[in-house]
Amino acid sequence: MPKYIFIVGGVMSGIGKGVATASIGSILKSKGFKITAIKIDPYINVDAGTMNPIEHGEVFVTNDGAECDQDLGNYERFLDQDLITDNYITTGKIYQAVIEKERNLEYKGKCVEVVPHIPEEVISRIQKVVKKTKTDFVLIEIGGTVGEYQNLLFLEAARILKLRHPKDVLFVLVSYLPIPAMIGEMKTKPTQYAVRSLNMAGIQPDIILARAQFPLDIPRKKKISIFCNVKELDIVSAPDIKSIYEIPVNFEKENLGNRILKKFGLRARKKDLKDWKKLVTVIKNPQKEINIGVVGKYFKSGDFTLMDSYISVIEAIKHASYFFKAEPKISWLDAEKYENSPQKLKELKKFNGIIVPGGFGSRGVEGKIKVIEFCRTQKIPFLGLCLGMQLAVIEFARNVCGIKKAISREFFNKKTKEGSCQYQMVIDVMLDQKEKLNKKNYGGTMRLGAYDCKLMPNTISHRAYGASLISERHRHRYELNSEFQQILEKKGLIMAGINPERNLVEIVEIKKHPFFIGTQFHPEFKSKPLRPHPLFKEFIKAGLKFPHFHKILNYEMQDLKRPDLSKTE
Ligand code: GLN
Repeated sequence: MPKYIFIVGGVMSGIGKGVATASIGSILKSKGFKITAIKIDPYINVDAGTMNPIEHGEVFVTNDGAECDQDLGNYERFLDQDLITDNYITTGKIYQAVIEKERNLEYKGKCVEVVPHIPEEVISRIQKVVKKTKTDFVLIEIGGTVGEYQNLLFLEAARILKLRHPKDVLFVLVSYLPIPAMIGEMKTKPTQYAVRSLNMAGIQPDIILARAQFPLDIPRKKKISIFCNVKELDIVSAPDIKSIYEIPVNFEKENLGNRILKKFGLRARKKDLKDWKKLVTVIKNPQKEINIGVVGKYFKSGDFTLMDSYISVIEAIKHASYFFKAEPKISWLDAEKYENSPQKLKELKKFNGIIVPGGFGSRGVEGKIKVIEFCRTQKIPFLGLCLGMQLAVIEFARNVCGIKKAISREFFNKKTKEGSCQYQMVIDVMLDQKEKLNKKNYGGTMRLGAYDCKLMPNTISHRAYGASLISERHRHRYELNSEFQQILEKKGLIMAGINPERNLVEIVEIKKHPFFIGTQFHPEFKSKPLRPHPLFKEFIKAGLKFPHFHKILNYEMQDLKRPDLSKTE
């Protein structure tokens, strides 16, 4: 019988429920069990594809092309396994399915009601995943915070499942214990209220993960235990730490894995968290630093800098850096500033490498193109991801091939049509997409999920992957226009990777540069902490050799404002 572990959040959002879920998964996996993880998002959006990255963070893409919440990325990274569309559930998906069934007379004339039909649909979807994956454990993270309206029906589904399988369902509450500055004491009351709210939904937590600035002390453990009706042994400290990858190791220090197994009457089949432990040792004792600049636009939300929009890129940089025992320092560079003041480009010399990640729309692209030109001519290691690759092609077309009006159709649409005939669409849509776009049918025009890519011999990519055929994940609408392929190649742009089915360019490189690669796909989605992505590895390797670095690090870097990444995890 599969075991169900529901993970819910108390007190407030953003306390690391996704990473806690992923960490529980990695612990149980290390004990020899088959695991899968589901994220339930209370949004009415059917998937995350239509959500603004500033509001919701990165859109993560699975191999089978689902546009998901970024937590799916956390699960894949911690579980070191691929997930599928079914692992992501939203309110929108559930209601859509129930309404479709009703229209198809599948409820056989019954009144279709919010309860039980919505929770039943949730349960059937969870069970579908269990059946498909033949898993021992399914972790189900319910988005949002207990006590709000939006996730009530999901809690209802969890309660019903527990009623049906009392021995096979477990509840973990990830709560937060604030330390108000004026009191200077860790407070348990919000957690007590969170448990009350959960109780009102008919659910009693079996385990509480106590997120806080510091570990829990004994008096607070006792207090939570008595007021929340949970054994002290099942209240686990989850203090702030330097790296999220420490979490599984920290949880295990408090015996979380075995506590969970005991509740289900199970025993560990093996014990093996040693690779994680090794990784944590490297993270805590780096031998060098590497400075990477990420040029983007999805950073700002009011007065705050958000990194969530690029979370997989950040993690991929970290994985590859840790491989070389280096600590990555990531700086957020706003593309628009290079548009307005190109003299700022000089600061790019201070980095070991520059990444231009994915993005949509025309804001900031001219700044990014300037950055790419600078990296190309100054031989700064450069990695362009999706939009970053398309802009690298535009830059090359304009400045090396002399196609001054080179542009992508994506930006051209937004411009006035005046003088339009002069523009050259070096990045364009495919013919079959054009018709759909004319009808404003944007949904069906994205290339999503995994596609094959054939690598050309004697390229950096071929060397990095050590293979001739690879598969990578996509999320884009536009492609390198084959009409321009010949001239680009003639001038030295190497088409290092090609999709064999449709002859689409997947990777571009240039010669006589320490590292200059653009990928139409998103390699960051497949990077894992214990298996860094080959292209990121090669990029970091080139960056560590980049000569400017050692000379500059100690003095000039200081005037470059960069957020301390360790505080954001
Ligand atoms: N906006 C570009 C496209 O749709 C690139 C997308 C991306 O970077 N993910 O093709």
